[in-house]
Amino acid sequence: MPIKEKNYWLETVATPPARSAQELPDSVDVAVVGAGYCGLSAARTLAKRGVKVAVLEAETLGWGASSRNGGMVLTGMKLPVPTLIKRYGREAVRKMYAASLESIDLVEQIVREENIDCNFSRCGHLEVACKQAHFDGYEESAALIKREFNHELRIIPKSGLRGEIGSDIYFGGMVDETSAGLNPARYVAGLAHAAQRASASLYDRTRVETVASQAASSAREFLVRTSRGTITAREIILASGAYTTNATPALRKKIIPIGSYIIATEVLPADLARELSPRNRMIYDSKHFLYYYRLTPDNRMLFGGRAAFFPETENTVRRSAEILRRGMIGVYPQLRHAKVEFVWGGTLDFTLDVMPHAGKIEGMYFAAGFAGHGVAAATWFGAKLAGLICGDPNDIPFDGIKFPAAPLGLRSGNTWALPLAGACYKILDFLT
Ligand SMILES: Cc1cc2nc3c(=O)[nH]c(=O)nc-3n(C[C@H](O)[C@H](O)[C@H](O)COP(=O)(O)OP(=O)(O)OC[C@H]3O[C@@H](n4cnc5c(N)ncnc54)[C@H](O)[C@@H]3O)c2cc1C
Repeated sequence: MPIKEKNYWLETVATPPARSAQELPDSVDVAVVGAGYCGLSAARTLAKRGVKVAVLEAETLGWGASSRNGGMVLTGMKLPVPTLIKRYGREAVRKMYAASLESIDLVEQIVREENIDCNFSRCGHLEVACKQAHFDGYEESAALIKREFNHELRIIPKSGLRGEIGSDIYFGGMVDETSAGLNPARYVAGLAHAAQRASASLYDRTRVETVASQAASSAREFLVRTSRGTITAREIILASGAYTTNATPALRKKIIPIGSYIIATEVLPADLARELSPRNRMIYDSKHFLYYYRLTPDNRMLFGGRAAFFPETENTVRRSAEILRRGMIGVYPQLRHAKVEFVWGGTLDFTLDVMPHAGKIEGMYFAAGFAGHGVAAATWFGAKLAGLICGDPNDIPFDGIKFPAAPLGLRSGNTWALPLAGACYKILDFLT
């Protein structure tokens, strides 16, 4: 019997607060589109600094990637450091890497300050090498990161891998102790409560349909038409991630929405869980078409990957459950008989250059392109955009870097070429 779609994380959290029963105000200082980490972090910072802010969310608060992800709070960026240095130069990449570390500190600080019960823990992450050639590259990679950023990674030879993971299929690993893990749905709910406590107004089931700039008495302002009425705002923050719609076509054409899927097993016996992940790391492998996995706080194995490249539908979710189960048993034959109790999917916001971007587009602030690093990055970018609106100096190293549009067939709302991109990744994994 095929398993039914159900997000494990949402079983662990009460529905976050919202203001949907109330009328939208006529005007605010800042309207934020999207109530994920980015939008809520921005709203929290703005409200704490005395700005009148409304968050407009088409679905429920945290509905997007922010309640569906693996909960891995990771250092670094998606692209390898040598690629980044070649593209942007040493100085810029130093600032980008520092931002990635600062973003984890920010998540930790918010969790502590706002008392968010989301199992945040600095458990570290482990990258495992699927090929000898991948492992051979780790030494150089760790040395470069130490030299350029003074950040320590530890190489684990195959002989030492059992201390990190209960699997014999890998050629070695690399550990970063700075990374963390959390329960993503509890974190986003906690952020929503924190923003609301700081006096931000949150409106769920409020879909933004159009945003237009118009002349106002003293300066320009934005007229935001939503499914529940119209609101004017001095500034807009677009925090709509992979779910960006045609309400903001200029941003939409830059976003490549890529599906990712996760299964979670039944609760495992404590000794088996310890065998699978003795140090409770956030784990991912070295492939392009990668698997990422971890234990949940109640000792389930949560196992994710790009089983299909398309954004989630009932069909892709169902197919993914079987593909991921096979992948999981390939890594952990010990889980052959473990029951898979949950499967769900979500959509990640990629950009063509696989980089996060932020700044202004058609006069509106935006941040997007967090790919698999959005738990920390979206939180950080949201707070940074809020700072810019409050007059802080612009120290976002990703602002102003070239931001290419996505080719037509990869764009949000028009993703016919995605299976082709998936096939290319599979070929790359075979060849490299
Ligand atoms: C399966 C999966 C696993 C992942 N694993 C990890 C991980 O382990 N670690 C990590 O760091 N990152 C991970 N990510 C990525 C991470 O979850 C995202 O980068 C991050 O949540 C993005 O946050 P956000 O606030 O930008 O967007 P989202 O959380 O996607 O929020 C955007 C919101 O905007 C709303 N919206 C869009 N358009 C409109 C509109 N017109 N009007 C009103 N509202 C609108 C949407 O409904 C949505 O709720 C994963 C993602 C997925 C899908």
